[in-house]
Amino acid sequence: MGHAAVISLEEFRQERARDEARRELHERFDRWLDQVEGRVTEERPTLEQLTQEIFATRQDLTGMVAEALVGQAYAETLGQQTMPCPHCGRILSARGSPNRTVETMVGAVSLTRPYFYCVRCQKGSSPLDEALQLSERRKQWDMQKAAASLAAEVPYERASELFHELTGLSFSDHIAHEVVGELTEGLTVLSVSPTAEEIAQKVAQVAEGKKWRPILVLVIDGADVPTRPETAKGRRPGRKKKRARRARWKGQWREAKGFRFYLVDGKRIVHLLSWHQVQSDKELAKALRQVKEAGLIPEEKVRLCVIADGAKWIWKHVKVLFPSAVQVLDYYHCSGHLHKLASVQFSDNPEKGTEWVEATVARLFCGEVQAVINGLQRMEARDAQAAEKIRKLTGYLTNNQGRVDYGFARKGGYPIGSGGIESAHKFIGHVRLKRSGAWWYVERANQMLALRCAKYNGTFDRVFDAYKQRAIRDGKVPSVRNT
Ligand SMILES: [Zn+2]
Repeated sequence: MGHAAVISLEEFRQERARDEARRELHERFDRWLDQVEGRVTEERPTLEQLTQEIFATRQDLTGMVAEALVGQAYAETLGQQTMPCPHCGRILSARGSPNRTVETMVGAVSLTRPYFYCVRCQKGSSPLDEALQLSERRKQWDMQKAAASLAAEVPYERASELFHELTGLSFSDHIAHEVVGELTEGLTVLSVSPTAEEIAQKVAQVAEGKKWRPILVLVIDGADVPTRPETAKGRRPGRKKKRARRARWKGQWREAKGFRFYLVDGKRIVHLLSWHQVQSDKELAKALRQVKEAGLIPEEKVRLCVIADGAKWIWKHVKVLFPSAVQVLDYYHCSGHLHKLASVQFSDNPEKGTEWVEATVARLFCGEVQAVINGLQRMEARDAQAAEKIRKLTGYLTNNQGRVDYGFARKGGYPIGSGGIESAHKFIGHVRLKRSGAWWYVERANQMLALRCAKYNGTFDRVFDAYKQRAIRDGKVPSVRNT
């Protein structure tokens, strides 16, 4: 007799539980269908009228499907009478079966499950909650993830409105704020970076069928973020309403420094990795070093090019970390400096100023930076201000002589500036952080920047999963419990 023919008692029980659950589900479905039919008043409804009613009530249906499937998968856990205390090991008896309702993207899920409490350890636990890996929050992981994703794009209040508009479910801006705070806790450049394999794959895709190794660009730049001081957090005495209208703190623009790696594929840019934070030069250099040491950049498979402004500290680190990279002084920064000098030196003759800028740019494109520097040294300053500008520009070009051969860069296919679509800080920072009236605590700004980097780096799922595993492991109790 074959082994398979033997059906154990346990298997039999499971089968029966499954049948029962199915039957119940079908009954519930019939009730739901009755409900929808009752709501459709027109005899010949349009498709939209139909789908509207289905959409409005679908979570009653899908929520109960989830409930039924839980009941089916966890029949044993639901009937559990005793369990050893997870902390001291003492055998505990169930203290009734309280109900807990959680909210998910498919609707509310109501769980009536045994609950255990250890008097000695003063800790309660529910095996079902643990088996299901529930979040301590009423809103479960799927909702938290959707809310965090929205909040990365639009202000919290708007995210909350959109959430409701699109799903019919509610998610407050307050909770979204908390979730983002916890989600982004302790994020570093490496936690939001793609893996070396993922980057290598993108490089291989761009390289395919091409004669030359693809150009990989590293842009290092900064962008101002409106911040508010920590002291703005405290409350001050006085009549609240009257005082609240006037800000007692002064907002400050602080530089979010960061970098972006991307591939150039003809006219297309293939984003690889971004990291932006309100941080010091040292912190940025450290992050860049972590990327390098983690082996994320396949230097031997690409032609590396670094674009940055004239800041000396940047080039100091670039030389150490990526010694073989082609260095380019950001063309937009450079021409900005030329225009500034022209506006002072030729203030009485703007046309001549424009001519001078154009001629200078043309010389730089021909690799004649030394001639430009010589010209500057011969230039007769119009006044003290112009003299200062001439002196500065001369120093700037002298320090960056090897980085302004734009013609050479262009011929090699290297980009010469980080303007327009290539600007990293625009799509990471500005879009979300620069909103009228929004001043960010540095900590919050950095959380938002990290979250946006994760999204654009394609690592949001991974970051969210890490947060989830951390919360489950730590049994973290959020400040707002189920209410
Ligand atoms: Zn115990």
